[in-house]
Amino acid sequence: MLLKTLDAYDFVVPPVIRFGPGRIVEIGEVVASLGKRAWLVGSDRGLRQSTAKGQIEKSLSQAGIPWQIVATSCGEPTVDQVAAALAALPPGDRNGVVVVAVGGGSAIDLAKAIAAMVTNLPANTSGQDIDYDTVVIDHLEGVGGCLAIQHWPLPLVAVPTTAGTGAEATRNAVISCPRRRFKKSMRSWMMVPRAAIVDPQLTVSCDRATTAATGLDCITQLIESFVCRFKRPLPRALALEGLPKAVRALPRVLRDPTDLEARGAMSHAALMSGMALANAGLGMAHGVAAALGVECGTPHGVACALMLPVAIRVNSPVASADFAILERSIDPAASTDDGVAAAALLTRIQRLCLEAGVPQRLSDVGLRRERLDWLAENSGGSSLRGNPVELDPVSLREILAAIY
Ligand SMILES: [Zn+2]
Repeated sequence: MLLKTLDAYDFVVPPVIRFGPGRIVEIGEVVASLGKRAWLVGSDRGLRQSTAKGQIEKSLSQAGIPWQIVATSCGEPTVDQVAAALAALPPGDRNGVVVVAVGGGSAIDLAKAIAAMVTNLPANTSGQDIDYDTVVIDHLEGVGGCLAIQHWPLPLVAVPTTAGTGAEATRNAVISCPRRRFKKSMRSWMMVPRAAIVDPQLTVSCDRATTAATGLDCITQLIESFVCRFKRPLPRALALEGLPKAVRALPRVLRDPTDLEARGAMSHAALMSGMALANAGLGMAHGVAAALGVECGTPHGVACALMLPVAIRVNSPVASADFAILERSIDPAASTDDGVAAAALLTRIQRLCLEAGVPQRLSDVGLRRERLDWLAENSGGSSLRGNPVELDPVSLREILAAIY
């Protein structure tokens, strides 16, 4: 049989990935290859409380890199947080500045937005004149002025301290606005971090709830990017490599948080999930998760975990062959019948969610029943466009009502 001609595609990943336990000590060398001084953006745990801080300071000092903390993230970044961070940046020349993000997806996304906005501020304005709120909103998809990132962001080095979001390898920063009730992406291929230092040791101190939610986010990203309507060969190869490792490692890290081998497998799977989603697309679990985050403040990973089983069930009629391939990548002895193997994947994921202790129903995360219409209508966005089954708000509402 002749090979079908491949569709054209782009593939963008961080040019430098340093993966492995203990590799955080190389951060000074990596930053020195990109600039002369470092602006640190981090989560409390990543930057202030964990042992990472000491190692980062020491490595930067040894490389002769002066550094300062310019922003601390608390929770998923908002327009207000990004604007406040931009307004508070040290004055002066940005030449040679490297932004270093240390934390989970929230900290990395905050750093990505700062790095991109600094070089894309409106021309002919002095610091005091800038309305940072408007500048940020204007660069988000689907709201404000829909401005593109035109200039290279400051170089960014991402150091994840959780294993799940894969933000160290993606081209977007997710920013929410509780005031205007949206959660949207700032996106550009130029926003992919210039380097990712993925050191699984930094995830060992991650608490159980965060480990569970971020781990299931990673698994959702691998599955949704594999079955996504925009099928791309390289993301699919990454998902096939990452998913079996993640589904075996997640129960292990939940039972024993110090299991470094399993932590390493999760960090690796998370990195691959980021590379996969950034170069393919996602599906209904991520589409609904964004709206659920706006309505109930549900953390991204928890919302994805809640939606993943129903997303598999809804898409099985058209994507059972792909779900079966995924199940066979985990269990080579799985059925050769696609429908049976797809059903086995669903059961496997349901068990994993149960073991992780994540919410199973929309009422569990505080959604009010009368808000189902709003949730269905606001679950659009780029993620839902990649879902194998086309869903309009009416059919989505029915699906959501069934898991209320
Ligand atoms: Zn995700």
